[in-house]
Amino acid sequence: MSKIFRVALCVFTLYLTGCSAINVEKKYRSNSYDNRIQWIVLHYTSADFEDSLHLLTNTAVSSHYLISEQPVKVYQLVDESNRAWHAGDSSWRGRTWLNATSIGIELVHPGYTEQAGERIWHDWSTEQIDSLIVLLHDILYRYQLPIESVIGHSDIAPQRKVDPGPKFPWSRLAQEGMIRWPLTTDIDFYEPIFLVELPDALWFQEQLAALGYAIHQSAEFDEQTQRVISVLQMKYRPSDFSGTADAETAAILQSLTEQQKQAQEK
Ligand SMILES: [Zn+2]
Repeated sequence: MSKIFRVALCVFTLYLTGCSAINVEKKYRSNSYDNRIQWIVLHYTSADFEDSLHLLTNTAVSSHYLISEQPVKVYQLVDESNRAWHAGDSSWRGRTWLNATSIGIELVHPGYTEQAGERIWHDWSTEQIDSLIVLLHDILYRYQLPIESVIGHSDIAPQRKVDPGPKFPWSRLAQEGMIRWPLTTDIDFYEPIFLVELPDALWFQEQLAALGYAIHQSAEFDEQTQRVISVLQMKYRPSDFSGTADAETAAILQSLTEQQKQAQEK
């Protein structure tokens, strides 16, 4: 039998059998598995729609979804079953390279513009955030993802990324039950205590690591620690995200880690 004939016969057999070469028995099933998708990572594109679309469809960068700004529309660029290339070198809760375990959503948004050496951060349109929230609810429901599954690119790569930035309305995601939020009662209780004595650098590093941030426990307020503190402040206390450790930031951390601990104990 010639090689060409054998290949042709094989292709014909596959065609007749519905393209299934082997019969796989699915009678016995295991319950020991979880979703490949663990997190949803939010980004902004720092570009207009045309440039964002070009970048995400013609270069080595991609995302599962792209949400335009004016008009607001949700585009799917990569199937959820495939990995999109949006996270890069990243780490969260001890896991690294999050492309494999996440869905990436890019929002068309300029981020910031530099004016006289100062960063001017741009506001977000309510309509675009409304669409994002509908999409997030849909994904969270389909994969049955728990609270705190929606994270920012800056959370998973705080040393090199700032998106979605300090103007992104994380508090709206908290209102939707997607992320935890520092409790006012906790802030009122802990801030005066931390004003008297600010916890040391190692305490800050331990709390940040407990939330999921990749941070070297150097016991110093070094540059890498300030960057992570800045990213946390952008999210929960955007009025000042200088990265300087202060009593309010310590109270925010205390509230968030306490809530996390209580949820884990349940
Ligand atoms: Zn990003």
